[in-house]
Amino acid sequence: MKIVVTVKLVPDTTAEKRIDPATKRLVRSGVDIVLNPFDEYAIEAALQLRDKLADGSTVTIFSMTPESGREVVRKALAMGADDAVILSDPGLAGSDLWATAYAIAHGIKAGGFDLVLTGTQSTDAISGDLPGMLAEYLGVPALTYARHLEIDGGRLRVKRETETGYQTVSAPLPALASVTKSANEPRYPSLKGIMGAKKKDIKTLALTDLGLTKAVGSDGSRTEVLALATPPPREKGRTVTAADGADGARIVLDFLKSRQLL
Ligand SMILES: Cc1cc2nc3c(=O)[nH]c(=O)nc-3n(C[C@H](O)[C@H](O)[C@H](O)COP(=O)(O)OP(=O)(O)OC[C@H]3O[C@@H](n4cnc5c(N)ncnc54)[C@H](O)[C@@H]3O)c2cc1C
Repeated sequence: MKIVVTVKLVPDTTAEKRIDPATKRLVRSGVDIVLNPFDEYAIEAALQLRDKLADGSTVTIFSMTPESGREVVRKALAMGADDAVILSDPGLAGSDLWATAYAIAHGIKAGGFDLVLTGTQSTDAISGDLPGMLAEYLGVPALTYARHLEIDGGRLRVKRETETGYQTVSAPLPALASVTKSANEPRYPSLKGIMGAKKKDIKTLALTDLGLTKAVGSDGSRTEVLALATPPPREKGRTVTAADGADGARIVLDFLKSRQLL
């Protein structure tokens, strides 16, 4: 079985992020770029599935990233993935979610897949929408927010997290699942893994390899960032002194009522 894990490269969460006022895009140069931390759970889930199946299944990392991201992708190989593909082309600059999902779907289809695993969100754009869009473009079922995954008789079965509890759902392969943080504890690359990753294959795909031209990048994007603004600073909190617990509860109750929160 071929398991593909989509991995986004993002600015380090501790790095100060800047938006270029001219292009209204996140400035990605001059900051440390790392694997999207949410994607490490998807990688770990894929490695566990592969090792449990132990039938020659493979894990391929797929990332749409500039060529400069190649060595960051190698960290996923050091964790134990078998190989990687990066979709890298200047024509992808300015891609919105729609164009990103469209391009990634074409790249994944070109290499073939039985199961696609994604993180639930990125730490920079944080839309959480890509997994659903990708499944739609791939024409496969999307089993989102998976905290436990199993392959059984040609079907993917997942336990998914919901706001109120859990659901167990299954779908025939090929399928896509987004993996939550509670699914596992991602492994650290071992020294052997780091050394071994140096020899693993990272293939580069360009838009021409996929026969894509206009439907990606800023030309192919359906959305446009019109304006950006920083949120106003939070107002200083109000400190109240209560005579006793009952008085404190009354003050809180009156405050909530005054804001029509009760
Ligand atoms: C109008 C507009 C313009 C934009 N312009 C640019 C731009 O110029 N440059 C730019 O870099 N971004 C740009 N973006 C952001 C870019 O489209 C998003 O980063 C991308 O669509 C993924 O969305 P997300 O990060 O919210 O993913 P989410 O839905 O939050 O991520 C969920 C999962 O999807 C997968 N994933 C997401 N992105 C990738 C990827 N690139 N490769 C592999 N897997 C991935 C990961 O598994 C991740 O865990 C733009 C967005 C908009 C709306």
